[in-house]
Amino acid sequence: MPELLFATSNAHKTLEVAAMLGAGWQVHSLRAYPEVTLPEETGTTFEANAIIKAQGASSALPSFLILADDSGLEVDALQGEPGVWSARYAGEGASDADNREKLKASLRALPTPPDTPLTGRFRCCLALVKNGQVLHVTHGAVEGHLRLQEQGTGGFGYDALFQPIGYEDTFGLLSAEVKNSLSHRARAMAEMQTWLNENIQA
Ligand code: IMP
Repeated sequence: MPELLFATSNAHKTLEVAAMLGAGWQVHSLRAYPEVTLPEETGTTFEANAIIKAQGASSALPSFLILADDSGLEVDALQGEPGVWSARYAGEGASDADNREKLKASLRALPTPPDTPLTGRFRCCLALVKNGQVLHVTHGAVEGHLRLQEQGTGGFGYDALFQPIGYEDTFGLLSAEVKNSLSHRARAMAEMQTWLNENIQA
């Protein structure tokens, strides 16, 4: 069975990626390699940061096929913020709850009429690296609206504030199956999976 190391310690993301790849792949995360620390995300784009993470993990574990993602939320009325700073929006070491509070405060402070739809999207970039070499990069996005109040406790990050287009509920309330069928990560992963199936031998 082919193996892949997903360069994250985020258990939610790892579960999502393992579910998307299916039973034919063995997916590990950095939780199994606590000695590996990822470099600082100094890039200004999701792609740059995904490659920084994948190459950082690859320099510690060169023989592994390494997948890394960088993802985040862009809000149009906030000129694309929090963007690549999504994980650190409320400061270094901020929790998901801290970041959601900061986002709600930023949205409430906007000088827009209350019924103006707040548009935005989650974006994800995936980078696949082996022996330090970038093998493939894919992108995915899901458009939606931001809510001023949280709905649901599922998922992670900004899920409770993000309502994908075509649905009445946030990712925090929608099932994992629904989220995994249309999310930014699912879309980037679908493209990556096509490449993996064509290029990596079982
Ligand atoms: P990363 O781990 O550097 O890619 O940071 C991604 C951050 O973006 C996370 O900490 C979340 O705040 C946010 N994010 C990315 N993907 C999702 C998602 O699927 N749901 C909710 N928040 C997300």
